[in-house]
Amino acid sequence: MKTLLGMTIEELKQFAAEIGEKPFRGKQIFVWLNRGATSFDEMTDLPKALREKLKTCAQIGGCRAIRIQEDTSDGTRKILFEAQVGADAASDTSGADQTAADTFEGVFMKYSYGNSLCVSSQVGCRMGCRFCASALGGFVRNLTAGEMLGQVLEAERVTGEKVGHIVIMGMGEPFDNYENVAKFLRLLHDENGRNMSWRNMTVSTSGIIPKIRQFAEDFPQVNLAISLHRLTDEGRSSIMPVNRKYPVEKLLEAARDYTDRTHRRVTFEYALIEGENDRDEDVQLMIRKLGGMLCHVNLIPLNKVEETGYSGSSRKRAREIAETLEKSGIPATVRRQLGSEIDGACGQLRRAASPLGRRRQQTNMPCLKNADGL
Ligand code: SAH
Repeated sequence: MKTLLGMTIEELKQFAAEIGEKPFRGKQIFVWLNRGATSFDEMTDLPKALREKLKTCAQIGGCRAIRIQEDTSDGTRKILFEAQVGADAASDTSGADQTAADTFEGVFMKYSYGNSLCVSSQVGCRMGCRFCASALGGFVRNLTAGEMLGQVLEAERVTGEKVGHIVIMGMGEPFDNYENVAKFLRLLHDENGRNMSWRNMTVSTSGIIPKIRQFAEDFPQVNLAISLHRLTDEGRSSIMPVNRKYPVEKLLEAARDYTDRTHRRVTFEYALIEGENDRDEDVQLMIRKLGGMLCHVNLIPLNKVEETGYSGSSRKRAREIAETLEKSGIPATVRRQLGSEIDGACGQLRRAASPLGRRRQQTNMPCLKNADGL
């Protein structure tokens, strides 16, 4: 069983040839898949015999929504997805997890400039940030390009609305799954697919420096956000273990090289933790270190994750800090809070038993609620 969603046109042409069809059928299939077809029967410009053949040797893949929660105050929808594993593919595998499917979440958000989907790149996460719910569940696996694309298509199907922007700020570290993420971005951009502009895509990283450098080469027009949160090595390492490998100064150097190379500003995400990184001295350090950079600071009062023991700063304090930064010439915004009625805010989602009663426990993502100013 081949899974087709997530393949490039070239790969689908090759697949068509492998099953004894003309390569141009591959392109037709690509167009259907990227339009959100959920069955081969919908692909009406394929001969019936080919559609029947496809049913025997391929599955579409992607994912299905198994729970949707809506915040009626702002139209935000939190969607729990389940990876699609076709019946045949499932019966191919053996062992206790045969019927287990991985679940992960996406958040659909409405903005004045259009709709945006916060996409997960992994089931679980390896980064271990102390304030983040993802860290509590550990790492399960990387999502494929087809499963990321599937989140976009399925979100459109269940909301009946168009997704014009994506932010990879859901569960997982996208630069710990670089190849699949890169493929996903290229698929979104494909003119025979969704034809999404590079500038409507944003990737957020906890700071994996070699991949920031590669990203600048590969995707100079895609927006980059870096989760900074603290500016001393001691402080940042204490809440973000990734800092031990990729310390602050080197990270800022990589960010400067990124802006030099791309001429695009970088967004620094800064989750405000009361008494931890929101003191005047922290703000002054930010001004010293970020002054003069082509950047933008996105402040978000930390969302409460009970187990972590950290609390967010008040919105008033967040606004004060934004003002101080602005006065020093550093563009800063306080992130709008969407979806608060549904606990859809970053870091608030947690490991929970799958609603379908699957055997394996799943980790939900701490989705960034929105990407104001990105
Ligand atoms: N791994 C990537 C993307 C996923 S997390 C990254 O670290 O950038 C998306 C954002 O949510 C990151 O900036 C992360 O630090 C932030 N975040 C995690 N838990 C949070 C919480 N409890 N409150 C606010 N932001 C949080």
